[in-house]
Amino acid sequence: MSGPSENDADDAALIEEGRLLFERECGFIAGATNEAALPPGTLPEVAFAGRSNVGKSSLINALTRQAKLARTSQTPGRTQQINFFDLGGRLMLVDLPGYGYARASRTKVGEWNALIHAYLKGRPNLMRVCLLVDSRHGLKSNDMALMAELDESAVVYQIVLTKCDKSGTGKRQQIIDRLAESFPRHPAAHTVVHQTSAQNGDGIAGLRAELAALAAPA
Ligand code: GDP
Repeated sequence: MSGPSENDADDAALIEEGRLLFERECGFIAGATNEAALPPGTLPEVAFAGRSNVGKSSLINALTRQAKLARTSQTPGRTQQINFFDLGGRLMLVDLPGYGYARASRTKVGEWNALIHAYLKGRPNLMRVCLLVDSRHGLKSNDMALMAELDESAVVYQIVLTKCDKSGTGKRQQIIDRLAESFPRHPAAHTVVHQTSAQNGDGIAGLRAELAALAAPA
């Protein structure tokens, strides 16, 4: 068993690994609108999912320190595509379309198409899905539906709270406590919940460290 000081040193080493990984160049590889257009799964992948407007593009841009890598808020109703970004030849960051657009009631606009479900089910190199949840609002029914789908497909997912600069600690603790209660019913859930803000950078270094552990060796 390691003492607290060793743990601290381990944590610092992981943070440094994350910093170094995300300092590497990150470039757009492909935007896939059908299965044939998915790039080969040669690198470990981490996908980012969440409701429209959850702060997904902002988080990806904050992680990679690139202001415009992921485009903010694609217009709902446009062709859905999965965007792939190669991070230093070691990790593929995958931007999934947002779901649950509030004003998309009558049509299927804002709902995920078959491509995305197929991607999530059949991607052996998909190491983790970061499921982004707005820390002011907590989990919604479509987030829970995605959790159930990922449990079913045995794809490991991890909750990342966004916009923590705008939410109170009490509200966040309530979300985290509820999640902790539900995790035993979610076999594919990673139980560490990250609290982030793309605005002030809180939690970004910790999330980089978490994801660096999934990357291909340097
Ligand atoms: P996406 O639709 O999930 O890609 O969300 P965006 O990244 O486009 O963000 C949606 C809105 O939330 C934009 O107005 C962002 O400026 C805002 N936003 C994103 N992240 C944060 C954050 O960490 N803090 C605050 N206060 N606002 C944020």
